Amino acid sequence: MPAASRPSSGAASTDARRPVGDPTDGAATSAAEKAAIKAWKVDLRELGRRAGSMREWEKTIPARPGWGVEMIGVPEGAPVDLHLRLESVMEGVLVSGTIDVPVTGQCARCLEPVEDTFELDVQELYAYEGSTTEATSGEDEVRRIEGDQLDLAPLVRDTVVLTLPLSPTCTPDCAGLCADCGERLDDLPADHSHEVIDPRFAGLAARFANLTDDADGAQPGPGSTDTEEN
Ligand SMILES: [Zn+2]
Ligand SMILES: [Zn+2]
Repeated sequence: MPAASRPSSGAASTDARRPVGDPTDGAATSAAEKAAIKAWKVDLRELGRRAGSMREWEKTIPARPGWGVEMIGVPEGAPVDLHLRLESVMEGVLVSGTIDVPVTGQCARCLEPVEDTFELDVQELYAYEGSTTEATSGEDEVRRIEGDQLDLAPLVRDTVVLTLPLSPTCTPDCAGLCADCGERLDDLPADHSHEVIDPRFAGLAARFANLTDDADGAQPGPGSTDTEEN
């Protein structure tokens, strides 16, 4: 009976109710996102596999998200300058050179914004699929070449994150904030201080002030008279 084998409207609505995941997830891997990921991949076909062949790789590529530690990092999309040399070796491709990465963050002492550009050296071997190196090393030890492509993003990310200071400072000797008023000590005069009396002694201090007043008032003559008599 064809009518019975057809999916009922009930089944169809069950399908419709099934969690479909976040539809924006799929949309996020849009053409723009794919292009941003692809920008970090080097097509190795031009370089070729002949050991010794070399290629310069000078590019500025927008940073991927998540390249940072708690207080400092590379803003997503910030321009990262790559001055790299790709060299074909027996086991794979050797990537070396420097990368200039803009970083922004917050001073760990005074919370002022911190902005800097790091120039970092890189030297890394990417192993060919099927090479001895690939066979004898873990994926976390030696980076891999996938097909004809080499992904620079993880290398740059790891290099940056390992270099970032856990406690960045606006200046090497930033004095931080005043514990009493919260102002930046470097912006305050050198003798900045607060006369703060511990609340437990506040009453005592007040009594002391009164006693001194009383003593001053009670003594008709100068205290030096007594000393003279002795
Ligand atoms: Zn600071
Ligand atoms: Zn203060």
